[in-house]
Amino acid sequence: MPPEPRDSERNPPPAAEGLAFSTRAIHAGAHLNRTSALTPPIFQTSTFKLPSAAAGAAFTKSTAPSEFYTRWGNPTTKQFEAALASLEGSEAALAFSSGMGAISALFFTALSAGDHLLVGRSIYSGVSELANVFLPRFGVESSFADAGRIEDLDRAIRPNTKLIFVESPTNPTLDVCDLDAVAALGRRRGVLTAIDNTFATPVNQRPLSRGFDVVVHAATKFLGGHSDATAGVICGSQQLIDRAWYHLKLIGASLSPFEAWLLLRGLKTLAVRVQQQNDTTLEIARFLASRPEVERVHYPGLESHPRHALARRQMTGFGGVLSFEVRGGLAAGARLVESLRVIQLAVSLGGVESIIQHPASMTHGTLPEEEIRKAGIEPGLLRLSIGLEDVEDLRRDLAQGLDASCR
Ligand SMILES: *Cc1c(COP(=O)(O)O)cnc(C)c1O
Repeated sequence: MPPEPRDSERNPPPAAEGLAFSTRAIHAGAHLNRTSALTPPIFQTSTFKLPSAAAGAAFTKSTAPSEFYTRWGNPTTKQFEAALASLEGSEAALAFSSGMGAISALFFTALSAGDHLLVGRSIYSGVSELANVFLPRFGVESSFADAGRIEDLDRAIRPNTKLIFVESPTNPTLDVCDLDAVAALGRRRGVLTAIDNTFATPVNQRPLSRGFDVVVHAATKFLGGHSDATAGVICGSQQLIDRAWYHLKLIGASLSPFEAWLLLRGLKTLAVRVQQQNDTTLEIARFLASRPEVERVHYPGLESHPRHALARRQMTGFGGVLSFEVRGGLAAGARLVESLRVIQLAVSLGGVESIIQHPASMTHGTLPEEEIRKAGIEPGLLRLSIGLEDVEDLRRDLAQGLDASCR
């Protein structure tokens, strides 16, 4: 009698190529699961049994082995990386224990002493701090330019510029830059281009298809989607990812297998979550724009957004984050965040719960005031991440909050 096939051979997962995005969000990477379990096992182990001392010696010379030592790699983490590479359309991906872990590793990979880093001016505060405080200690200079004005970005390139790093839409003012133009500029000037795609998610925007070399994510946000895991990822060429892995191995910001499993679980619903968040956020943006207490709403999906036409061209949806300015500045903003009942006061974004924060006093509080203003942040600016609650409940919550705090 021929041997019984293993269950996993009897019913292999679908090959991800050729499948639509939402199908890949569920099945991509599943070929790495060699068991018959439908959901991936959590390889909750720090190390792996070796067949021989010689095999151990071979592993220490290898790149990114999946079953040697979990700081170097782990099968559950590899499955998440394969899924992300499929969703962003990259050759490879590498997971980290946070978004900042991923961004730091990218900087270590792309920059050496004597190099220059060019950053889009409106950027995550942790990235500004890396550029302003951390990198100079290692002989890397950096400067900021408005990524929305391609001539400014072009002028800011120096002979030693090795990396252009931008966000679009940006945190927290939802500025949009021309992805085709930034990628083309990098090509023309021979500079690597990287983008933080956290706010858009690959559901709404695929920068690699527009010519970017690298995409990074704070997977903590929409990719995980449930505010229960901290993680980051870099997507790019196999060559870049292999080099980044060398730094991951030494910095040690490796993603834990359990977090990787939470992220794989989150990815399965990414497409439906983000679609719903796109729809609800547009409705809430329109509602806020209609309120007299609200001075301005920043959301690329609104016709009033200065780059709305560009956003329409390069995004298929406008994402789950908006910001708005209330009349009455700092005091009114602080009162509003404390008077909401459904929407929670917290940092972070991209989860199923709607979350609000006040950047002037919170995440940007570590920057000098001049930098805050340069990043376009007004004292009454509030950042709102829309979750999956009913849109009517969110509208009512904001209405009562505005009534209570802005009169
Ligand atoms: C949260 C965030 C980061 C940092 O991610 P962590 O997981 O908190 O380290 C980077 N970029 C953007 C746009 C973010 O929102």
